[in-house]
Amino acid sequence: AKTAGGHRWHWFDQAMDESADAAARLSADLRQALSRGQIFALYQPIIDLTTGLCAGGEVLMRWQHPDRGLISPDLFIPLAECSGCIVDLGYWILEHACRQTATWQRRYGDHAPAKISINVSARQLSEPDFVDRVQEILERTGVDTGRLVLEVTETAVFATTVAVQQLERLKTLGIRIALDDFGTGHSSLSLLLDCPVDLLKVDKSFVSGAAADQAGALIVKNLIGFTSDFAIEAVAEGVETPEQAALLRRLGYQYAQGYLYARPMPAADFEQHFTTATVM
Ligand code: C2E
Ligand code: CA
Ligand code: CA
Ligand code: CA
Repeated sequence: AKTAGGHRWHWFDQAMDESADAAARLSADLRQALSRGQIFALYQPIIDLTTGLCAGGEVLMRWQHPDRGLISPDLFIPLAECSGCIVDLGYWILEHACRQTATWQRRYGDHAPAKISINVSARQLSEPDFVDRVQEILERTGVDTGRLVLEVTETAVFATTVAVQQLERLKTLGIRIALDDFGTGHSSLSLLLDCPVDLLKVDKSFVSGAAADQAGALIVKNLIGFTSDFAIEAVAEGVETPEQAALLRRLGYQYAQGYLYARPMPAADFEQHFTTATVM
């Protein structure tokens, strides 16, 4: 492997250097990962910039490999999409997050996180019975559907018109839809017209440039303009500095997520966080 700056890229670089054989082995390992209890979920707080309070969180999947340690989702999610096991992993994390959210809602009522966001890949959305399975999970866990946000990427939505119909059906269940990594795909604006989107997650590549250069600031400013035109809420991703946060607040962003506030953390820590934390 190349020399890696951080552990996150270490395995990615290594995987790139690996033989097809090794990649196939990792993919086979991944198929067993769920039943062997190696998959778990972390929660990253999403902050309401107008109050400074934790408004919710995004659920992020992790894979603890027995020999290789923690493997980044940037590596194993594409593998899972390729092999199809993202479908099972996706249902697992959805059910896990719904059960956890239902527990918090019983335990804390109004003080439970208002919104929990769960990532859904294109492959999941293209399953014909996806919405039925989601409905089943909602009923089984007793989660308040008004608390749920499903995050889809522009490519996922683009893949099929069936996907758009699926999103419409999910909305009838009371679930809200977020467009993830917004701005990184193509024809983003026309998508807003075609898709039942409630929320935009503005990609961290724009946010990191926002406080540093004029071009970045202009993009972030224009994106918030579009969201207000379409009556959509906006979350700025990857907020790392107080300067970025101040700029985003000034521009009218309501929500922010990033290392400035908190890294993804286990459910028990997140519970501490949303019950005690006043961030700013
Ligand atoms: P994403 O959906 O865009 O998730 C946000 C990613 O940005 C997370 O990486 C998060 O840890 C990271 N992040 C948050 N704040 C900051 C910050 O201030 N700076 C920087 N540099 N990064 C920040 P993570 O957890 O490694 O996940 C990577 C990607 O893997 C996700 O990107 C998502 O596309 C995918 N993924 C993760 N969990 C799931 C899942 O359960 N299902 C699906 N389908 N995809 C998932
Ligand atoms: Ca996401
Ligand atoms: Ca994102
Ligand atoms: Ca991403």
